[in-house]
Parts: sequence; structure tokens; C-alpha cells
Amino acid sequence: MKAISVLGSTGSIGTQTLEIAQEFPEEFTVVALTAGKNLDLLIEQIKQHEPELVALADEIHLPELKERLEILPPKDKPKNLPQLVAGNEGLQTAAAWSNSDLVVTGIVGCAGLLPTLAAIKAGKDIALANKETLIAAGPVVLPELKRSGSRLLPADSEHSAIFQCLQGTPWAENARLSTGIPTPGLRNIQLTASGGAFRDWGAEDLKNATVKDATSHPNWSMGKKITVDSATLMNKGLEVIEAHYLFGLDYDNIEIVVHPQSIIHSMIELADSSVLAQMGWPDMKLPILYAMSWPERVETPWKRLNLSEVGQLTFNKPNTTKYPCMELAYAAGKAGGTMPAVLNAANEEAVALFLKEKIHFLNIPKVIEAACENHKPDFSSSPKLDDVIDVDIWARKAVRAEVQKNSSQITMASYN
Ligand code: NAD
Ligand code: MG
Repeated sequence: MKAISVLGSTGSIGTQTLEIAQEFPEEFTVVALTAGKNLDLLIEQIKQHEPELVALADEIHLPELKERLEILPPKDKPKNLPQLVAGNEGLQTAAAWSNSDLVVTGIVGCAGLLPTLAAIKAGKDIALANKETLIAAGPVVLPELKRSGSRLLPADSEHSAIFQCLQGTPWAENARLSTGIPTPGLRNIQLTASGGAFRDWGAEDLKNATVKDATSHPNWSMGKKITVDSATLMNKGLEVIEAHYLFGLDYDNIEIVVHPQSIIHSMIELADSSVLAQMGWPDMKLPILYAMSWPERVETPWKRLNLSEVGQLTFNKPNTTKYPCMELAYAAGKAGGTMPAVLNAANEEAVALFLKEKIHFLNIPKVIEAACENHKPDFSSSPKLDDVIDVDIWARKAVRAEVQKNSSQITMASYN
């Protein structure tokens, strides 16, 4: 039985993790939850899983949560109400909770950084969904993993696929650690991309893209931010950086291939030119479960893959003219230092502005590029945590300033 803490329990990753815990009660028990402001759902989760600790991102909601739990009718009230905490310190307490073995990181964005680091420092195994943490702070996270012995188990479907393929190689011991040490014999990684919401749109038509269009994903049901990242293909660019830190390959050996059916979740090429792929229906529960159960496999009654039902698997090259975000990500990853943190923060800010209809879809890459161009990283030493936090704040401001400066050109109106 593994005891798990779920960071971001009310989100897409968080709710799927809790569904897994509910479906396999012999395997998993939930000891800590963290959430933003969806108290209705959080209270249902507390009733169902009876965690020992619950942390809210913002203290302001704490009195209401406390009161609503206390007045629950006896039939719904957990035998022991959880300890309630809040704010950054509260999130970190949940992440490092002494009774948990594994922490599932389902917080979105760089907000996951400090809690993930707290979990690593406490020596917990990490089921990593919150990719932004590793992208922004790879050079900070990797040495911490080494120090604490905490293991990073990828929950992102592509990285889970690579991780699963690596288990079958003679270098499994190294691969299992996922500490960014190059895996001998691993020649190349091919990350598959569904193509996102606009894969069937002509490049010209993107000028008409609305928030509603960008938040409808053809294959995966996910949170809003990552769905927009999939529509710009920045998600794939971010995943290239994530793969670099997880598996230690140079950027030239990490490729993107568009695979609209999302059946092959990624591939590895080995020294003897053999290519291994991991397949399954596009369902995030599979990679989440593997990160939770590793190194074991849990028997599930889930729908089994039937390739004759799928019919065709097709592949094509990504279009970097239509989707400039991928090249911005490669460039930031290759630059290294604090550049990936700037790319990540600028992207978070740009997506947030797009979701508020303050900028147009086509301006997302433009404002990110401007932030990266204006950032002068200091390569004299590896970035520290404070450097990452400083550039994260700087990049968000830089994006807002850029939007302000060009507001006449880049509002929605200019495209109508
Ligand atoms: P989501 O928006 O559905 O959920 C985010 C969760 O984080 C919610 O519980 C929310 O309350 C909490 N949260 C938001 N802002 C917070 C803050 N500032 N402080 C603390 N908590 C905060 O997001 P999601 O789609 O579940 O994605 C979560 C992470 O997993 C992201 O990093 C994403 O890239 C990654 N991921 C998601 C999927 C997926 O299928 N959803 C797939 C691969 C990777
Ligand atoms: Mg992914």
C-alpha cells in the first residue's frame, strides 16, 4: 500500500489520480491534498478519501473550508477531520507530509516549483505531472534529487512512454533514476504530438482562432493552460526541455513527430538502431497509474487497445512556420541557464492573457520571443533557486509590458 499526497487535487491530473486511488484501494491511500479555490469539489474529495492534511493555495478560503467541514451532517463527516493549512508554507507542508510515500504533482505552472522541491528535499518519490517545475528549474531540481535520493517518475504521457521503454533496456537501473544522467545506449527520443486543436486548420485561419477554439482538444481532456499549450504546440516544446532534463539527451537527439491518433505515446531509438514505442488509448490515467505504481504494474479492467479498431497510425513532420513555439523552446533549451525559466514564465503569462482575451492567439509566440530576446542570462554559474524565481517574475512583467506597449496592434480587435 502506497500513501500518496496529491498536489492540485481539484484539477484534471488531481481528479484522475483520486479516481485511481478510489478504484484501487488495496494499492493506494490518500494522506494529503492541496487545492486552489474549488471548495465544493475539495469537500467531496475530503469526504471520499479522508486525508490527514489539506492545504489551500490561498489563506483567504481557509475559514470557509473549516466551517463547511464542521457543519457536515454526521453521515458525511469524516471520522477525523483533516488538519487544515494554507499558503506557500501550507502547500510545502502537504508536499513533505511525513506519512506519504509518493507525491503526485498536479499543480499547474511554476506555482508547483516550491512544493515539488519541498517533496524532493523530504525524500519523497515524485509522480511528475507539473512539467513547468522541471523546465524552469532543471538545474536546481536535478542536484536536489541526487542529494535526497528522491526519484522522479514521469506522469506526462510522452515521458512515461520513454520511461516505460527504457525499463526494457540493459540500462534500466540508470533510466529508473531519471536524474538527467545520459542513459548509455539511448540514441534518440521521438516525442509524439497530437497536433492540438488547430491541426486541421490552415495557417491563415489561425487569425480567427478564439479562446473557445483553442481550449477544445481533439484527443485529451486537460486543464485550460495545457490545452492552449497544445494548440500552440508550446506543450511539445516544453516537453522537449522536460525530456532533456529527465533523460539527459542533447537537444539534437530529441525530435517531435506529429501523430494525430495519439496511440503511440513516444519512442526511443537505441544504439543498435532498434526503436521501441509505448502504445495505448489516449488516457492520462495510464501514465499516472504507472508513475504511482512503479516499479510494479497494477492489473486494470480498462479498455484494451485494439489496433484494428484504430485502423491507421499516421505520422508527419511538425510545421514550425505555423507553430513557432516549438523552435522558441528548442532555442531556450539549447541556451540553457535561466532561459528555459524565462520561456516558461513568458508562456504562462501569455496564455493567461490570451485566456482573458487580452491578446490574440497569434501573439502568444511573439510576446514569448520578445521576452527571451530581452533576457540576458548569466552563464558564469548554474542558476540557483532565487535566480529562477527572479527571472520568472521578470519575464511575466516583460510580457505585460510588451502587451501594453503594443496594445493597439495585438488586441483581439486588430484581428477582427
Ligand atoms: P488544471 O488547471 O486542471 O489543475 C491545476 C490544479 O492546480 C488545480 O487543483 C488548481 O486548484 C491548482 N492550482 C492552480 N494554481 C495554483 C497555485 N497558484 N497554487 C497552488 N495550486 C494551484 O491543470 P492540469 O491539466 O491538471 O495540469 C496540471 C499539471 O499537469 C500541469 O503542469 C500540466 O502541464 C501537467 N499535465 C497535465 C496533463 C493533463 O492531462 N491534464 C497531461 C500532462 C501533463
Ligand atoms: Mg504530454
